[in-house]
Parts: sequence; C-alpha cells; structure tokens
Amino acid sequence: MGNPGKIAAVNTHPISAPLKRVQRTAHESRGDVTLLLVEVVTDDGIKGYGQVSSTPMKDIDGWIKKLTPHVIGMSALAHGDVWEKLFALTSPQPGQGALPRSARPQIMAAIGGIDMALWDIKGKAAGMPVYALLGAENKPVFTYGTGGYYIEGEKLTACADELAGFVANGYKAVKLKTGADTIANEVKRIAATRAAIGPDISLMLDLNAAYDLPGCMAFARAVAPYNIFWLEEPLHWYLQPADFALLAKATTIPLAHGERELTRFTTRDFLTIGSVRYVMFDATRAAGFTEALRVAHMADHAGAMITPHHAPEMHCHLVAAFPRTGFAVESHGSPDRDPIWHGLFSDRAQVRDSHVYMNDKPGFGIDIDWDYAKKHAA
Ligand SMILES: [Mg+2]
Repeated sequence: MGNPGKIAAVNTHPISAPLKRVQRTAHESRGDVTLLLVEVVTDDGIKGYGQVSSTPMKDIDGWIKKLTPHVIGMSALAHGDVWEKLFALTSPQPGQGALPRSARPQIMAAIGGIDMALWDIKGKAAGMPVYALLGAENKPVFTYGTGGYYIEGEKLTACADELAGFVANGYKAVKLKTGADTIANEVKRIAATRAAIGPDISLMLDLNAAYDLPGCMAFARAVAPYNIFWLEEPLHWYLQPADFALLAKATTIPLAHGERELTRFTTRDFLTIGSVRYVMFDATRAAGFTEALRVAHMADHAGAMITPHHAPEMHCHLVAAFPRTGFAVESHGSPDRDPIWHGLFSDRAQVRDSHVYMNDKPGFGIDIDWDYAKKHAA
C-alpha cells in the first residue's frame, strides 16, 4: 500500500464486560472492565485501531467526538502534527481559551486513542508491523503476570496460591497487589506468596498509591527480606518527585511509577529527581504511543527501564524497540481479571512462557472480533 490519504473519520466502540467477582486494589474496587476502541478511517479506506483503558469511558468518548473535527483532513501519517495540534488545545492560544482543566485526564486519554490508531494506520500503509517501523526485530518481549487482587470473603493468603498458579503456567515474574491492609497483614500475604513461588521468581509489589512517605518507608523495611523486585506506585497521589527521591534513599528496593502520569513532562521529573528506575507510562491511558515513545527515549538517556502498564499487545511494540532499556510489558495472569483482553481480539500478540510473541501483521498486528465487540457494546 502507498501513502494513506487524509483522516476522514474517527469512530468509537465502547466495550464493557463484567468480572465474575468484584476485585479491589488499595485504591479502588471494580465489578467490570471497560475498553474504548478508537477507529480512525482514511479517505482511501485504511482503518487503524487504538484503545483507551481510562475512565469514565463515556466522557472520554465525548472528548474524542469533540476533538475529531480538529483532525479531519489532516494527513493520516502526521502523528506528530496531529498530537501537537490536539495537545495545544489544552493550553490557551492567542485569542482563545483552553479546554477545561477539570477534564485533562480524559482529554489526554482521548488524544492517546486517536494517536495509537494513527500508528496502526502508519504500519498498515507501510505494510509493516509497528515494531519494524521503530527498527526492532520480531522477538519475544518479557512479561510478568499481575494478580493478588483483594476479593471479598477470600482468606488473607489466597494470593499465594493464585500467583504460584501463574508460575506453574510459565511466568518467571509475578506482581502482587498490596497496600490495602495493615502492614502486618501485608507482610503475611507477601511472605506466603514468596514461599509459594520459590526464590527464583521475581516478585513485584503494586501499592496503588497506598502510603504517605513515613508509612511507605516502614512498609519497605518490612517487606525487604522477601527479595522484592520493585515497589510500584508507592506513594499517595499528591506526593511529588522530591518525595519519591526521599523514599528511594530510604530503601534498596527499586521504585516503579508512571501509569498515572499524563505527559512526558511530569514523568521526566519522577525519572530524574524522583529516582524512579522502572517507568510505567501507559499509552492507552494518556497521550498515546507518540508520547510513550518520547518517554522511552528519555528513560534510555537516564539509564532507567521502561515497563509500560497494561495493554501488552500494543506496548510490546515499544518495548521491543528499546533493546537496552525495554524491560517488560504487563499481563494479567488470569482471564478472570481481564475478560476483554481475552475476548476482543481475533488475532494479537500471544502470551506464553513469560513472554509476548508478536505476529508479522502490519500495524499493531491486532484483529478485532466484532461479534464480541457488539455483544459487549457499552
Ligand atoms: Mg499499577
């Protein structure tokens, strides 16, 4: 295929699927999962797909509809110009105001969905997978399995059996949700999990912003004996890079952060001032693949590692393109946690033996199962 033409339409497909049981992190409970599929169509008929995994889905859908007139008629290859044009709307321009600051997370998510679809189009137009556009070979990308959500009525150490199950299924690294209970009880969960998975499996802890600084220092001291790979999103939402730097000085466990950041600018300061070693910027939550690529270059310069949050079938293309700094993508060890990921795609990268295996199809290598999408339309 040659050059694609101009952006002719942006369509959205909101999808929602119930979870079998309500699952809780330290931060929130969820009874369902949602995904906003973003379809950009060119005037010569190429369709590209992006996805948004942020909330509220209805608001983000509304923002995509409001942003669409700004990109209609632009070159479908011009992801940089499209990104800049949409991002500029979030700050005042001469003679006009800006989009509302209260909606920033949803606007950045909407920009991300459109941006990812343009990368899919670029690959399809070139007849190349996105990883090839970025200069990578098709190679397995490391992944870990996330689990250990809090479920009403389950015994305290149920997480140990669950994560040992992931290991039995081939995962070499597992991530435990933690931080929702007392430190004493969390230590019981972590000790049981370490005993169940054995000494050779990497164990990450995801705190979902559970602690203030002294609390997290105490937590880090208590869990250090269990050979912890990283502490993820350790501090309350309002704490800043300087606070992360103090935490990093107080513990030998590396810090991971970035899934809640909206741009490369705040992410940069966590990386440099905050001593964050694993950067988890999520293209499907904010700002798209273009911004995730900028973050990855920044991490490379800083000697940190990228390990994007969520959406392994898309983020694997990015991680593959950074052989020195690309550490891993995140998978959910159990289909019960992410039924959409297991149901929506008729083809995509496959997870086995703690690695993501990409296909050779152009773009992100994703085919949509439209029957599933219709059945679960939100
Ligand atoms: Mg997390």
